Amino acid sequence: MDLFEHQAKELFAEYGIPVPRGIVAHTPEEARAAAEQLTGRVVVKAQVKTGGRGKAGGVKVADDAADAHAKATQILGMDIKGHTVHKVLIEEASQIAEEYYFSFLLDRANRTFLAICSASGGMDIEEVAHTAPEKVAKVPVSPLTGVDRATAREIAVAGGLPQQALDGAAELIEKLWAVFVDEDASLVEVNPMILSADGQVKALDGKVTLDENANFRQAEHAAYVDKAAEDPLEARAKEKHLNYVKLDGNVGIIGNGAGLVMSTLDVVAYAGEEFPGQPKPANFLDIGGGASAEVMANGLEIILSDPSVKSVFVNVFGGITACDAVANGIVSAFQLLQSRGEEVTHPLVVRLDGNNAALGRQILADAALPRVELVDTMDEAAKRAAELAAVGA
Ligand code: GDP
Ligand code: MN
Repeated sequence: MDLFEHQAKELFAEYGIPVPRGIVAHTPEEARAAAEQLTGRVVVKAQVKTGGRGKAGGVKVADDAADAHAKATQILGMDIKGHTVHKVLIEEASQIAEEYYFSFLLDRANRTFLAICSASGGMDIEEVAHTAPEKVAKVPVSPLTGVDRATAREIAVAGGLPQQALDGAAELIEKLWAVFVDEDASLVEVNPMILSADGQVKALDGKVTLDENANFRQAEHAAYVDKAAEDPLEARAKEKHLNYVKLDGNVGIIGNGAGLVMSTLDVVAYAGEEFPGQPKPANFLDIGGGASAEVMANGLEIILSDPSVKSVFVNVFGGITACDAVANGIVSAFQLLQSRGEEVTHPLVVRLDGNNAALGRQILADAALPRVELVDTMDEAAKRAAELAAVGA
């Protein structure tokens, strides 16, 4: 999960990292009030989870509160690389003497952590890394020894930072390491890390990526989830602990096992090419090994509440959970949905194979569920589901 700049800076501040004072605003009026509170010159910064905001016109200096109102009016609603700006950060303006680059990240290829540091930071760092790579120091960091003040200073020296910035940079880098480790981050980036006119080293921008695999031990990270940006169906699926990803087609997909579901997406997309409108998968949904009736019902409910879904393909390979259990799950799911007042109105193509397949098919045939069709092979079932979606069944 990526954090907004303002969230990254709030986190930095908790670790004692110097950041400018700032206030988040959602409207030009809030921006004006924030600027009045901060007094003097401020910077109005688009809060979007993408880089290059400065170059896109999403970072503007404002002379006073009225100007902050004007700049926020320009920036709010702006589109930056496909991200709409819904909020801005109003910050006290900094007097920048120099801009440096710093980051900690996971270096997967070398199975270690990496510190990247350069005295040539700011908006052109990518260009510098390309044309003058010797100006960008890459220092491996052992997870066993980590980064103490002395190591932090060595990294700053390697990056070519000037003498007067070394003490401040070393302190900041040491604290960023604490953020990186204690928050289970896979990236912390500060660009620019500045030397201000009065000789202080500060984080003027912040990018943090948190490792969601660590959520079980980082309860506070739940507060960073951007509910507004989440797809509503994905959010509901998450609440029900379903492994669901919304896609843009119209054939709902349910399968057991991530690999099977992935190949189902391919087979359906391929089958769809033959039909008018070229139906495609509407989602990824893996109901996992132990597909209980409730999981099946929840999965069907999510898929059927997607208005673009025209047909559903349930593709199950019986393994540890045999096909008869899955078939019973489907039957119970229909009953459960009916009792919730969510009648199944779309056609369902079901392919059951593997352990106890014959028994599973028998159970479904006996139940005679409305609009359920049993098809024996995955290819044929994919074709049928695509066909049903194409005719808008
Ligand atoms: P990014 O383009 O998305 O990385 O946004 P940044 O937060 O890095 O801002 C881009 C640039 O705006 C920085 O490199 C600075 O040159 C400039 N900038 C940001 N804050 C201030 C400030 O307080 N004062 C001044 N003078 N410039 C700033
Ligand atoms: Mn930046």
